Amino acid sequence: MEQPGRNIERLRRLCEEIKSRIDYRSFYQHYCSEARSTGARLHAQCPIPAHEHSGKGNPSLSVDLARGLFHCFSRDEGGDAIRFYELMHGATFARAVTELARDVGLDDGQQRSLAFRAAPDTTVEGVQQLPPLSFERMQAVCESFLDACRHEDQVEGISYLARRGIDRETIRRMGVVYFPRRAYRRVMRSMLDAFPLEELQRSGLFNARAHLTFYRHRLLFPFFVEGRAVYLQARTTASGVEPRWHNMRGAVPSLYNADALSQLVSGKIVYLVEGFTDTMTLLAHGFAAVGLVGAGGFREEWLAGLARFRVVAVLDADTAGERATTRYQEMFRARGIELARLELPSDVNDFFRQHPAAALEFTLMTEAALEEQGERMKDEG
Ligand SMILES: [Zn+2]
Repeated sequence: MEQPGRNIERLRRLCEEIKSRIDYRSFYQHYCSEARSTGARLHAQCPIPAHEHSGKGNPSLSVDLARGLFHCFSRDEGGDAIRFYELMHGATFARAVTELARDVGLDDGQQRSLAFRAAPDTTVEGVQQLPPLSFERMQAVCESFLDACRHEDQVEGISYLARRGIDRETIRRMGVVYFPRRAYRRVMRSMLDAFPLEELQRSGLFNARAHLTFYRHRLLFPFFVEGRAVYLQARTTASGVEPRWHNMRGAVPSLYNADALSQLVSGKIVYLVEGFTDTMTLLAHGFAAVGLVGAGGFREEWLAGLARFRVVAVLDADTAGERATTRYQEMFRARGIELARLELPSDVNDFFRQHPAAALEFTLMTEAALEEQGERMKDEG
């Protein structure tokens, strides 16, 4: 919640801004259309409703246009333009300031928090209509953003993942980068120095308000092609932030960690899991894994890259995970590829954190799953 002291300070600053921008002549004439002008003063019938003037007789309102001050001689009441607005509209001070700020073009963005200005665009906003960035430029933006963040303090990101049992070496190997909030403006500026705003917006890194969008989602997971980042997905490390994920513009280009498959010999076991944490958990324990973004996120065009391995699906033990596994088994079989199924009592990360001998147990369960899959293939002949 905003503290009253800070709120008053904010209003005071806005008042100053308003007074530096307002055109007093047109402001007062708006309410006193018959005002007479004498040098730097206006004289008019006082329009303040609470004064209940008859509207006849000598003008009782005098306005000092240089200072923006008004005075009603008949009721001996005066003040500045904000006070005048309050009296004319029966408004509180805070409402008068807010509405006047908007009227003089101190747009909403300047008054709202950085979180608001940094929020990703909704689909109705203009930037979404622009054509997506080319593969090469997207890669340049991703690499540059990761570089800028990598030079900042990584401690918060590393400890977040450490609490999930993921070690520094795995973090480094996967190129995961943390973007500390206190570096927000610095990183934003460095990106604006390196790229035209339009490119940053087309990549999804910046929004229509020309702000960097990864403000609430600052743990960055890159997707690599031949060792170069081509896409980013980021999660929040705070509780209560919805949605939990934010990404660059466009669809996820591949399975997470798919780039590492090129290093593996054919016939090796590769696990198909859900999400970044589960993928990294298996890697940290010496298993090969690729991750889906969401249980249902597998695309048929990714099958070819998996065909030379023994693939074992270890999706979450919920309805979505079970349904997805069944569907993928059919998809794989239609292309003549086996997909074994391993069911854990929990997700992969929980399993490894809760069982001291998890790696051994996991290996045994894998053997059983592959055997079962082999039997089934034989039956179906
Ligand atoms: Zn008056």
